[in-house]
Amino acid sequence: MCGVFGIYGHSEAANLTYLGLHALQHRGQEGAGIVTTDGTTLFTHRNLGLVHDVFSQHDLERLKGSAAIGHVRYSTTGGGGLQNVQPFAVDYALGSLAIAHNGNITNADALRRDLEEKGSIFQSSSDTETVIHLIAHSRQKTVEDRVVDALSRVEGAYSLVFLTPHGLIAVRDPAGVRPLCLGRTKAAPHAYVVASEPVAFDLMDAELERFVAPGEMIVVDENGLRSSFPFASRPPAMCVFEYVYFSRPDSVLGTTSVYEIRKGLGRTLAREHPVEADVVVPVPDSGVPAALGFADAVKLPFELGLIRSHYVGRTFIEPQQSIRHFGVRLKLNPVTSALQGKRVVVVDDSIVRGTTSRKIVKMVRAAGAREVHVRISSPPTQWPCYYGIDTPTRGELIASTHTLEEITRYLTADSVGYLSREGLLATVAKSRSSQDESAHNRGFCDACFSGQYPIPIFSPSPHEPQLPLLGV
Ligand code: AMP
Repeated sequence: MCGVFGIYGHSEAANLTYLGLHALQHRGQEGAGIVTTDGTTLFTHRNLGLVHDVFSQHDLERLKGSAAIGHVRYSTTGGGGLQNVQPFAVDYALGSLAIAHNGNITNADALRRDLEEKGSIFQSSSDTETVIHLIAHSRQKTVEDRVVDALSRVEGAYSLVFLTPHGLIAVRDPAGVRPLCLGRTKAAPHAYVVASEPVAFDLMDAELERFVAPGEMIVVDENGLRSSFPFASRPPAMCVFEYVYFSRPDSVLGTTSVYEIRKGLGRTLAREHPVEADVVVPVPDSGVPAALGFADAVKLPFELGLIRSHYVGRTFIEPQQSIRHFGVRLKLNPVTSALQGKRVVVVDDSIVRGTTSRKIVKMVRAAGAREVHVRISSPPTQWPCYYGIDTPTRGELIASTHTLEEITRYLTADSVGYLSREGLLATVAKSRSSQDESAHNRGFCDACFSGQYPIPIFSPSPHEPQLPLLGV
């Protein structure tokens, strides 16, 4: 999962991109980069780390020009390393070009083999680089036509932004798996902005105009904005996990608030898996809205029984084995007074490997809870994502290898209840207005829950992604 941003027609392009990337930081913490242009040259700065650490004021001053694209990276295909931090910027036959990508190209391995046989030399292990080589190899006369030519050979999920010295191009794949939205700054010069999520616009006082539609290509240059649909259409398949976990709760996707949807998921969960209890406790931050909905539906008190430290960065201290719960305690600590003697419902958005939930259940019980009931506001995660979310292999997903009873035992919980697939889809669909449906899309990809992959996967498990301990 990654975040992309683009801006055209603003003297502070680099600074606004920096702010936009800040707002999208939740979509990737491994690396960040910005490429700008002054109409002749591309200027690049990228590095490993958080946005705040990657750019100094001096770096931003060096990024000249009135158009820019930016990227925050969460490594999926290709793994870590500076060479995989985007945007990528290259010189080719038609001039300079930079690209930033959110998603995952499922036929990247085959394309790469083909391109390497034709002489391409790759500089990264990222799937995104295949798009650059396809553009460089294309015989089309303009960069727009080359982008269309290249993407016509690409399968998978992509929300892409390109920058050339002359303009900005934004493209969303025909299934619209990853979000991408278009806005304009409110104050003159009314620059165009594109971003993975509309929260990126709030910081710079820009207004959401609309979502980029699945299969749409937008070009912004000195002639203004042009939109086209140059690709074969596909049934829409927006990632439902964006609503469950990935997008920021203060984002509005379409016309629907992600926060309200998550509360709705909690309410549906409560209807599906009610339980006799005293208190509802969220796993912060990911479980908070669903826990509010759950508590509201069952009329139980909502308590912050777990407190999250927001200052946990990477730690290089290797704790001794004897310091138990080190990893999770660094991020979460129980509030004993809210838990002691209580029958507690712990609400989180998802279980991946189950290791975090197990530690949380033990922590809540150690703080004096009489019973611990785990409620999850999405269905069992049973299948890996090949469209841009970093999930472990099938064998490591606890719900694909264990029954509910075994999971309950492993977590050491008194009970576990997952939201049903029907409950998830009905809640998300209900919260979206008909306006969303035309401006956004109707269908969802829920392959991580159903195993029904809407876009062909050519190389199952092209990598063995590792899930970092992030949820808590
Ligand atoms: P686990 O210990 O593997 O079961 O992790 C579960 C936690 O990870 C939950 O709190 C989720 O909010 C969070 N989570 C779910 N999907 C992801 C993801 N793709 N990347 C990071 N964290 C995730």
